[in-house]
Amino acid sequence: MRKQKTKELDSEQKQLASMVFVASKNAMLITDKDYNVVLVNSAFTEITGYLLKEIIGKNPRVLKSGKHGRQFYKNLWDELLHKDFWQGTIWNRRKNGELYLEWVTIHAVRDEQGQLKYFFAIFSDITHNKALEIEIQQLKNYDPLTQLPNKTFFIEQLKVALANLTGEQKLAVLLLNINRFKKVNDAYGIAYGDSILQITAKRVRKLLRPNIIFVRDYADRYLILMPLVNNYTNVLSVANRILETFKNAFHLNNNQIYLSATIGATITKNKVRDARRLLKQINLALDKAKRDPTVPIAFFDSSMDHLVKHRVDVEADLYQALKRNEFRLHYQPQVDINSKKMTGVEALLRWQHPTKGLLYPGDFIDITFDSGLIIPIGEWVLNTACQQAVLWKKQGLPAFFMAVNVSALQFRQRNFQKVVQDAIHRSGMDPANLELELTEQIVLDDFETAIQMLSTFKELGVRLSLDDFGTGYSSMSYLKKLPIDKLKIDISFIQNITSSKQDLEIVKAIIALARTLKIKVIAEGVETKEQLEILLRLKCNEVQGFYFSQAISADALLKKCKEGCF
Ligand code: C2E
Ligand code: MG
Ligand code: MG
Repeated sequence: MRKQKTKELDSEQKQLASMVFVASKNAMLITDKDYNVVLVNSAFTEITGYLLKEIIGKNPRVLKSGKHGRQFYKNLWDELLHKDFWQGTIWNRRKNGELYLEWVTIHAVRDEQGQLKYFFAIFSDITHNKALEIEIQQLKNYDPLTQLPNKTFFIEQLKVALANLTGEQKLAVLLLNINRFKKVNDAYGIAYGDSILQITAKRVRKLLRPNIIFVRDYADRYLILMPLVNNYTNVLSVANRILETFKNAFHLNNNQIYLSATIGATITKNKVRDARRLLKQINLALDKAKRDPTVPIAFFDSSMDHLVKHRVDVEADLYQALKRNEFRLHYQPQVDINSKKMTGVEALLRWQHPTKGLLYPGDFIDITFDSGLIIPIGEWVLNTACQQAVLWKKQGLPAFFMAVNVSALQFRQRNFQKVVQDAIHRSGMDPANLELELTEQIVLDDFETAIQMLSTFKELGVRLSLDDFGTGYSSMSYLKKLPIDKLKIDISFIQNITSSKQDLEIVKAIIALARTLKIKVIAEGVETKEQLEILLRLKCNEVQGFYFSQAISADALLKKCKEGCF
């Protein structure tokens, strides 16, 4: 009786299955183990234009578009045969020659002994799918150096993937950073560094499944999106495989060099469906991994949640701060070491927060960099500083330099030169009194472009200085080529100059370097008489620090100048 029932059910199920096969809006295709087509449904014919009788016994290769390389198919087959499953997008060609993009799932079907019997593919035509139209457009946005897609593309993909997650499904985002890259770039040259970035891109791309998105973020950072993951081990094994590739040496110009990398990763929780939040999480995870060199991979965990929340809150607050006119500039004197006369001031940003009081850059500047808010804020800083210089002149102060900090992001903006030019023109300031403080990062990101940009600033008549010097990977070879007027020795060396012989030697070397290059040198963070005396002996040109003055408001500086303090 029961056997009879089971038989009936079996045949009913088969009937249902074949109805689904016929009626499905998704194209279906079955091949035997030798890849010969056995069966297709009518949706298949609709999409591809091939009738069953035209394609039966043939290899589905007839659909091939020529848009994917050999490696793409190799990866696909490797994975399919290994896991009996593959999912992703493929460009194929209809019978009428037209290209189309399909979203396909392929299963390998095995018998009870595990022998391959069939392949079963189910796909839909997504050429006109709105989200993918964006994808196709963005595909044009490749990073020219590595040929990988760029960050804009990544964010779009991440948004689509997040929107498509259902129920308990999770995705993972990873941030890969090459360790010591800047040192190598500096020691061996930019061309060498570029090759390392290209080789890394190729090596990592090769080991990732085609449906994993891999892009260059910027500099020596890459982003990875795993659209569907089961658990940490999934992600960990991919991360480990990526790090493994760094065990292979980079061979370039007869040099053999070994590098390592660090990864920050995050896996979505049900609650988090916000792409920007995930990007903040991987940055925090990477910071964590960087702090502990014995752990090259770190996951974002909920104990860091408050940090993300803090960043998100501050970012929202910062948007308002500009509108509400809450930013202030304070000015710190720079003093000639011999005459003790003020030669200039550095404009330093402050945030007069309505509830938290006066905030220093340490509390918010990183967030302005991450969010891009430093662009409008930086523009405000430039305009305000230039106007202030003109106002002081009107108030009877002698002319002195106005130094303004410029972040790498501002510098990379195409219209940055115009922003500076406008600030000068609008205020009527003498450009010879404006000094832009740049970081080494600006130069390291793209040396050739940086040199061109810097030269155009020199043509404007503006002075340039290199801030926090000694903390990056500057070398004589590139400093020589930069049209800069001044080196600012980083605070950390000055603070230890009386106790650390090594720091003293570094300061000595920087001063000697500046002298060779015939540029000025200023020491930052001078707090004590002892520090000042050492710097005097070493013939440093200028000093800046609490020993003379903290950064103070424009009015306070005016008052002190009039009192003859500087
Ligand atoms: P920075 O450009 O190297 O500025 C020098 C920092 O050292 C200032 O911190 C200054 O107050 C502090 N300082 C000066 N003398 C002493 C001293 O004797 N002892 C100690 N302990 N500290 C001293 P601040 O104002 O907190 O600024 C920190 C950083 O924030 C700046 O470092 C700069 O990188 C960034 N920053 C400030 N304003 C701006 C801005 O308008 N735009 C950009 N892009 N960055 C800014
Ligand atoms: Mg500075
Ligand atoms: Mg500095």
